[in-house]
Amino acid sequence: MARWREFLPQVPAYALARNGVGREHGAVSRLSGAIRFGVLTPEELVGEAVRAHGFVRVEKWVQELCWRDYWQSWLRVRPGVWTAWRRRVRRLEMVGDAGMLARAEAVAAGRSGVAVMDGFARELRETGYLHNHARMWWAAFWVHAEQLPWELGAAFFFRELRDADPASNTLSWRWVAGLQTPGKHYLARRRNLEQWCAPELIADDAGLERLEGESAAGVAEDAVKDLERVALPDDLTAWDGDAGRMGIWMHPDDCCLERSPLAGAKPVAVAACFPVPCGEMYGLSALRVAAVRTVLDDGLGRAAEHFGCGVERLEAEEVAGALREWAVRERLDVVAAMRPATGPVADALPAIGRELEAAGVRLRFLQRPWKAALQGYATAGFFPFWKRASGWLAGGAAGLLTEC
Ligand SMILES: Cc1cc2nc3c(=O)[nH]c(=O)nc-3n(C[C@H](O)[C@H](O)[C@H](O)COP(=O)(O)OP(=O)(O)OC[C@H]3O[C@@H](n4cnc5c(N)ncnc54)[C@H](O)[C@@H]3O)c2cc1C
Repeated sequence: MARWREFLPQVPAYALARNGVGREHGAVSRLSGAIRFGVLTPEELVGEAVRAHGFVRVEKWVQELCWRDYWQSWLRVRPGVWTAWRRRVRRLEMVGDAGMLARAEAVAAGRSGVAVMDGFARELRETGYLHNHARMWWAAFWVHAEQLPWELGAAFFFRELRDADPASNTLSWRWVAGLQTPGKHYLARRRNLEQWCAPELIADDAGLERLEGESAAGVAEDAVKDLERVALPDDLTAWDGDAGRMGIWMHPDDCCLERSPLAGAKPVAVAACFPVPCGEMYGLSALRVAAVRTVLDDGLGRAAEHFGCGVERLEAEEVAGALREWAVRERLDVVAAMRPATGPVADALPAIGRELEAAGVRLRFLQRPWKAALQGYATAGFFPFWKRASGWLAGGAAGLLTEC
């Protein structure tokens, strides 16, 4: 909230200033770590920005904010792209060429020999954050200059970024590699870095010549089955007061229950679960694991105040079993949750559904009306999406804009 209050007066300047990369990142919001976990929601940030400045003056920032919803909507109907990425990472890590794996490790450790890129790799490891432009350059360097598999680069970001988001990360890497928008890829060019980097970032120009005249690496196309679209479940956008003892399961995809469609519910208990093995399975950095624990505790604290019921954070080897034990202990008839986005939380849903069903507990999901509306506009590429979404937003977003 403190960062948002500081950034709000600057939102109109964002469109012109956002591409510059320095050490402080003052021209961008640095709010992704909060937005990704739903600690701050787009509907309240957009609401306050529009109220303070009017839609037209903040449109660029709002458009960037909506990229996350667009990417999540895209991946939600094509979850095979997420599972294919995970499969491929495991395979490369197990049977990938030893020379390639050693080079990937060196580049990720900041030992590529291109000083500016090595600085970005160190910044990412030390802070868990990188500016968007630096993410683009670094990913392009990995894929096109180093010719390393994009999947391993995305896995490195996924481990280290405090805002790591399955959709924004996987699909941005695919975009840089030229897979997301066929025929289009992104290259890191020396001229571009010299234009947008603060002088101190490129004072050491070692290796910069490698970014001159670079051409795109030929990245293999996806197997068609991974791009197949799935039908979406029909989630509630408001709680219907389902009878019986109700508990809420809070997860890292939405840590803001008190400002969600569940706000009016009367739970007897709220639980959040940190899946211990998930941290190990993805090799998450200590910073990343701490960030997830922090947002879960923060969300539980606000939920306790709002709902006035018992809350607990379950540290479990296995989420499904832990939720079942909790539901049985609390004698619940129904567990409600916000619908998770495609990613590690959603991957656990089949097991969670089975465990709760075996205990005679119903599991029900809700979707934020904001997400449901934007999902409806995300039927093709980003620009058709934005044409429809920006019209909706400029017209007041059907009364959904709120404040923090
Ligand atoms: C290779 C690559 C990997 C990325 N991985 C992630 C990731 O794992 N998690 C993540 O949150 N973002 C990711 N992004 C998108 C973007 O870089 C970050 O959201 C942004 O840099 C976060 O910084 P900020 O909060 O200061 O952004 P600002 O510039 O202030 O933007 C405001 C908000 O808009 C959203 N946003 C901005 N740009 C994008 C974008 N290109 N795509 C999606 N949402 C955007 C974020 O919620 C961000 O907090 C990735 C981009 C690239 C090129």
